[in-house]
Amino acid sequence: PRRLVTPEKRDDDPDASLRPLSLGDFTGQEAARKNLKIFIEAAKTRGEALDHVLLVGPPGLGKTTMAQIVARELGVNFRSTSGPVIAKAGDLAAQLTNLEPRDVLFIDEIHRLNPAVEEILYPAMEDFQLDLIIGEGPAARSVKIDLAKFTLVGATTRAGLLTTPLRDRFGIPIRLNFYTAEELELIVRRGARVLGVSMSEDGAREIARRSRGTPRIAGRLLRRVRDFAIVENAGQVTRELADRSLALLEVDSIGLDVMDRRYLEMVAVNFGGGPVGIETIAAALSEPRDAIEDIIEPFLLQQGFLQRTPRGRLLTPHAFRHLGLAEPSRPAA
Ligand code: ADP
Repeated sequence: PRRLVTPEKRDDDPDASLRPLSLGDFTGQEAARKNLKIFIEAAKTRGEALDHVLLVGPPGLGKTTMAQIVARELGVNFRSTSGPVIAKAGDLAAQLTNLEPRDVLFIDEIHRLNPAVEEILYPAMEDFQLDLIIGEGPAARSVKIDLAKFTLVGATTRAGLLTTPLRDRFGIPIRLNFYTAEELELIVRRGARVLGVSMSEDGAREIARRSRGTPRIAGRLLRRVRDFAIVENAGQVTRELADRSLALLEVDSIGLDVMDRRYLEMVAVNFGGGPVGIETIAAALSEPRDAIEDIIEPFLLQQGFLQRTPRGRLLTPHAFRHLGLAEPSRPAA
């Protein structure tokens, strides 16, 4: 089933139309913006390429958006690809040799590069050189090609997924965090303006509250609520309309959906609230472990529903309260 509140990109997302275009227009992530602003200004003053940037954070928080803004603020071309798309070293070599001085090359999901491709990235990042092997067998020889000094912007969900040599080659590591309700409210109101939707203040707040700290989800919920408003011929999105439409879409008052509740209820009921190992949870839910760690758990952890302990996942009293279940009595630790 397609989840409405999953933070991963979907084809029908209104991403492009809702993207802020400058650092000034970008809501939230203050530390990241401040840092980038300084580094960008310094690079521009020196007329040099910006140091390589690694953007780390859960899906939908604005990594691609920020990479595009970096290129725009530097006044250079933005080229974009992603780890799983680059099949062969030659594919990346083609991209790299096409770059002009100071251009930004964005590699999304950079932790999913295959090792042979990653190998050619090291000298490219460090010395702006390509080391290529031409030919095969005894006739094979290696050639070096100079590249333009460019900026690699890599994006990944968790820094720990990167190999150490790759991680070490990024001079500017930037972490993106979940957005506050206030920031999301601003993002929803801006999105409503862009989409031409009239919305009350508490309508925007209601959508923000259910967006799981994630602008991509806010944009998606906004669009769904707008559809309800159109069908009902409502002149304005009110809190009542937002609440009613999102409840129909089974997104609860704090943005949990059926999948989250399945996870929480399963740990609560089948495992007495834990601790229970991630593999056991994955098997019980019939979901891949990676998907659970990347997509379901970050928000539950951030909301204080869940703790990671050495012995496994443990639900908090807060989770039991939200589910309306009694907490099992545990022996004192
Ligand atoms: P990521 O690359 O981290 O998965 P994106 O950059 O694709 O996320 O952003 C997802 C959506 O959220 C886009 O529509 C983008 O416009 C919107 N968005 C992200 N960050 C912000 C922000 N700070 N302000 C407004 N919209 C944002």
